[in-house]
Amino acid sequence: MPYRDSSENSPVLAAREAKPCSEIRVGGAIFGPRSLVVIAGPCAVESEEQTLRLALAAKAAGAHVLRGGAFKPRTSPYSFQGLGLEGLRILKKAREATGLPVVTEAVDSQSLEWVAEYADIVQIGARNMQNFTLLREAGRVRKPVLLKRGMSATIEEWLQAAEYLLHQGNDQVILCERGVRSFDNSTRYLLDLSAVLAVQARSHLPIIVDPSHATGRRAMVVPMARAAIAAGASGVMVDIHDQPEQALCDGPQAISPQDLASLVPVLRRIADVSAGGQG
Ligand code: PEP
Ligand code: MN
Repeated sequence: MPYRDSSENSPVLAAREAKPCSEIRVGGAIFGPRSLVVIAGPCAVESEEQTLRLALAAKAAGAHVLRGGAFKPRTSPYSFQGLGLEGLRILKKAREATGLPVVTEAVDSQSLEWVAEYADIVQIGARNMQNFTLLREAGRVRKPVLLKRGMSATIEEWLQAAEYLLHQGNDQVILCERGVRSFDNSTRYLLDLSAVLAVQARSHLPIIVDPSHATGRRAMVVPMARAAIAAGASGVMVDIHDQPEQALCDGPQAISPQDLASLVPVLRRIADVSAGGQG
């Protein structure tokens, strides 16, 4: 038997027993069983020009949702920290220009208030997955939340984090696997694709995969995105950039808009085959 603290409560609202399958609709995107959502955009909003350019490219490539960080949780305080509120204003313009809904990260109470106002989906990043104060606040927001897996979080801890959101009344929770810390350094993190199955066995919440932050390596993003959909994920989130050498954040993991355009129809085909397999 796995270790279990007898004082711990299991997730209830996030559990499969609570309901069969959640379906979350944002604009034209449907996060749920047998759906395919492609989220794409730059890791960070760097300027209005860069964001509009990449937003239009994401739309043309067939993406359903635009991503881009305005508040960046960076390992080093000397790295680009994001444009903040100005970044959110730029994302709003990108939404108006493309019609794509926007997902962007909130890192604290103030940014959560702004992100909830400007964006269509609030992202809680890996580093804040167990920031219970922030989770409680995000649970009171009337926007869907994309909850990324903490880099050392068990499936149980991740579902418990989702439970915080659900417990506060927000039933629009989407999970995102983004890799866990491993002993090996050939990739940035270790993409845990079995997490898709492990989550689906225990929870009704939709789950997507971020192969960009997981691998950290451009050459691995497209194959791992394909594998994620083959494993049954409801979608993928990928970083794109047209000048990755100049990117202010995570350039080495950004694929080109052209690569994204080739990838989307392939993912569509894989999703169709997987859905057929599920009967
Ligand atoms: C991101 O998606 O921009 C990000 C910082 O991801 P993570 O929280 O998974 O590291
Ligand atoms: Mn990043």
